[in-house]
Amino acid sequence: MANKSKFQAIRGTRDLLPPETALWNRVEQTAHEVFTTFGFGEIRPPIFEPTELFARAVGGETDIVSKEMYSFPDHTLWGVEGQRTNIILRRPNFEDIRAVSLFVSQVDDFISQVDVALKAGEMPKTNDNDRALEQLRSGSDRISTFLVPSTAGLSEEQFKLTVAFIQDAAAALKFGDQVSLRPEATASVCRAYIEHNMQQLPQPVKLYYMGPMFRRERPQKGRYRQFYQIGAEILGGPDAPAIDAELIEMLMTFFDKCGLQGTELSINSIGHAADNCRRGYVARLKAELERVKDKLGADSQRRIETNPLRVLDSKLDHEQPIIEKLPRIADHLCDECKTHYAAVKHELELRGVIYRENWRLVRGLDYYMRTTFEITAQGLGSQNAVCGGGRYDGLVELLGGPPTKGIGFAIGEDRLILSLQESGKGAAPQGRDVYIAWMGERAYATAIRAAKDLRNAGFRVELPPTELKFGKALERASKLGSRFALILGDNEVQSGEWTLKNLATSEQQKLTEQALLDYLHGL
Ligand code: ATP
Ligand code: MG
Repeated sequence: MANKSKFQAIRGTRDLLPPETALWNRVEQTAHEVFTTFGFGEIRPPIFEPTELFARAVGGETDIVSKEMYSFPDHTLWGVEGQRTNIILRRPNFEDIRAVSLFVSQVDDFISQVDVALKAGEMPKTNDNDRALEQLRSGSDRISTFLVPSTAGLSEEQFKLTVAFIQDAAAALKFGDQVSLRPEATASVCRAYIEHNMQQLPQPVKLYYMGPMFRRERPQKGRYRQFYQIGAEILGGPDAPAIDAELIEMLMTFFDKCGLQGTELSINSIGHAADNCRRGYVARLKAELERVKDKLGADSQRRIETNPLRVLDSKLDHEQPIIEKLPRIADHLCDECKTHYAAVKHELELRGVIYRENWRLVRGLDYYMRTTFEITAQGLGSQNAVCGGGRYDGLVELLGGPPTKGIGFAIGEDRLILSLQESGKGAAPQGRDVYIAWMGERAYATAIRAAKDLRNAGFRVELPPTELKFGKALERASKLGSRFALILGDNEVQSGEWTLKNLATSEQQKLTEQALLDYLHGL
């Protein structure tokens, strides 16, 4: 017998199942409704994009891009690519004429496959690929001379160089573009803004999205490799503080409508990348960090060089008293950023949004500026951030668009759902309103019609596909959590009076079809 292995969802991914999916739908429906009332429209960008887009927008040195993305070359030439790997890994022995001739024929076969793929447009027809193919051809010509006895005087050194020459050319071939599953969606939204010339629409453009994101992180509670975000972006227009505040107001309204408990909003301003603002502050911070370097852990010590702001993110207990004494950005903002921050806080107060200031809330990337915010919720343990957001006025320009203001947030939907479930707001199991217990051929025809009418009227109906004994049918009905059993046998069909049994009270009543619908609607 063949060995049938069992399949499991890939590590860090999971199936969302009923009844939980009902809660997901409710949350998403709430997002559609609330965001629409604030004038946002939905965007559905693709789930994969050129790797380069994320490298540029999220930053090549971030964990997300440097080690967490699912990236792959976009082509189907796996066979040819396998040949290439084979060629690159080969170390043919110069003295073994059979090994050399095998290598030569592998290279020639590879060349003709690549040639076909290029002509068929299955490989990108670029100058780099043309050059690599040329190099392969000349390498192949050169190496075949080692097979001819009259040139036996050639040295092993020359042979090795020729092999390397061929291998370099093979390695340089690009079979397809490098693409990645999206680790976040802000980059895609900005790309779409540019691609569709949205700067010609009335500004600002307000967009929201929801869907799966992919990051190869260590899975744990509230952290998955496929997770879901609901996010919104405001692009273009001014950077008026009211825009920041209204976006946050919308977010808190959404959480409120979802019934999320124990939410805490933290805000900060990280100024802008200028000497008299954040850059000046970072220099001060760095100098101070150097002074206390010996008391910091290895990660923080490294970050003093790579990204001093991120030291402020540290969760290590013994670093906390040291970090508390570090210079704070609020004291180093330029006048405009200071004014902007004060105005954002005022605008939040006008809207009755309660916030806490957290000077340690930073974003490591240069184009993030001014407002940053984060929301935590209860019941999530250490993964308690349900939303992160901030202003990123430089991003659209960085991606090749016109100078454009931008601000947005991303909610971790998985964590939002977890928190709702922890506080008892999970979805109830999906029951049925009516289970139709039918007996006999004639009753079956009536049962089909009854099911159709009841479903059209919006009731959840279960119609068993095969005839069941009366007792068995009622047992199934209760197992499915049905409120009523509609009993249809010969008698009911003949008299036109159907029997409706309340499964909680066991009360029965006889009703015509119309009376039945009226009765159910009246409940
Ligand atoms: P964290 O510090 O929790 O890793 P982050 O800074 O990586 O979060 P963002 O990139 O700002 O998070 O994404 C916004 C939100 O998306 C987070 O606040 C969180 O709720 C959620 N999120 C991020 N990564 C994951 C993941 N791997 N699994 C589930 N949710 C996630
Ligand atoms: Mg993270």
